[in-house]
Amino acid sequence: MDKKQLIEWDKKFIWHPFTQMKSWLNEEPTIFIEGRDCFLKDIDGKWYLDGVSSLWVNVHGHRRAEIDEAVKSQIDKLAHSTLLGACNKPSIVLAKKMADLLSEKLKWGEPLTKIFYSDNGSTAVEIAMKIAYQYWMNMGIRGKDTFVSLKEGYHGDTIGAVSVGGVELFHNVYKPLLNKSLQAPAPYCYRCELNNSYPQCGLACLNEMEKIIAQHQKKVIAVIVEPLVQCAGGIIVWPEGYLRGLREICNKYDILLIADEVATGFGRTGKMFACEHEQVTPDIICLSKGITNGYMPLAVTAVSEKIFNAFLGELEERKTFYHGHSYTGNPLACAAAIANLEIFAKETTVEKLPSKIYLINEMLSEIAQLRYVGDVRQKGMIAGIEIVKDKNTKEPFPYKEQIGWRIVKAARKHGVWLRPLGDIIVIMPPLIISKEHLQRLLDVIKVCIIEVTS
Ligand SMILES: *Cc1c(COP(=O)(O)O)cnc(C)c1O
Repeated sequence: MDKKQLIEWDKKFIWHPFTQMKSWLNEEPTIFIEGRDCFLKDIDGKWYLDGVSSLWVNVHGHRRAEIDEAVKSQIDKLAHSTLLGACNKPSIVLAKKMADLLSEKLKWGEPLTKIFYSDNGSTAVEIAMKIAYQYWMNMGIRGKDTFVSLKEGYHGDTIGAVSVGGVELFHNVYKPLLNKSLQAPAPYCYRCELNNSYPQCGLACLNEMEKIIAQHQKKVIAVIVEPLVQCAGGIIVWPEGYLRGLREICNKYDILLIADEVATGFGRTGKMFACEHEQVTPDIICLSKGITNGYMPLAVTAVSEKIFNAFLGELEERKTFYHGHSYTGNPLACAAAIANLEIFAKETTVEKLPSKIYLINEMLSEIAQLRYVGDVRQKGMIAGIEIVKDKNTKEPFPYKEQIGWRIVKAARKHGVWLRPLGDIIVIMPPLIISKEHLQRLLDVIKVCIIEVTS
């Protein structure tokens, strides 16, 4: 099948996510046909450095022999059964590994040892929200029907997850369909809505958060946040202490804390889980993107024994968690995740990050000097570069100029694959990227920002 035919069928039959299909039809799309290490090859044979880890999922590179092998050997045994009334081997082994890892890394509260499987980040969040709501019901506490979340927050695209989302562009249109939720200001120091700069912005935002919780305490089920970095909202990196302070507020008012680590989990921030940076253990954690290295759709919602125990009872008490998916605990996905976790342990992936994190930091301070770069933000292996029209006033470029997209398209000519968030250039390479390739990624970004803005 030739390229022309494939493109024709793509345009005729596929509705692409987050895409204005009218513009899509006028463009020449890229078809990837192969991957290796940190690179992707398109149908013309051109290789691209994968600068955004194939949408933030790839941690150990494309076509990892160990994961290839684990999935192939599981295929020879069992591709799928069900966790509804039955078990399978990989899901059991992975649950044990995840519970051990979570208890080892998040040791400042009740360990998160009960693993509920699903198959994407949005459903991991839906599950966390339903568990949190029903937890209070099962405890005999009535009247709780509201979540607290952050502006610029992103927790996925299903209705429950959108209800706690705060990205206007993605979420506004669905407002009439959404569940009850309250939003606190995001500690976005560059554009702090309370007019504070770094680091006072963090404290001011915490005060607002506490006001909301104090005022609505009886109704609030939980606070849900993306700890340390609000990724899809624009790589908003929190000032130190915000997460710690949030945990303390939740403790003070007896509110659950849900950490959506779908993007930040599995080493991205320089530690296995972002919550480790501030010695915080959430009550519920959501994990997905990095879990299988992008091989198979899989997600985990992990909770403490205390929350789990509230669901135990006689059948007629109706305390059961009524939730499950056809693909829950899929053996191929769990086998991929087990192999991926084994690479983390064997290669000490996370321990090897500091020199790469330092390199990103160095290059970002150079990039920050450029005339149209308003702000640079970084936490570990996640970074964002905010392009502005006016550095002094922070005025953005007009939306129709699509400045972010133009920079990203320029990078493609240089063999670097990126995807922006509006006017923010996102850097999120696979964790195993070599320093040489990382340097190239950052060099190309710098050159393209200059090229497009001058
Ligand atoms: C990507 C993301 C999600 C949604 O995950 P999907 O697998 O795309 O449904 C949820 N929360 C955060 C923080 C994310 O980055």
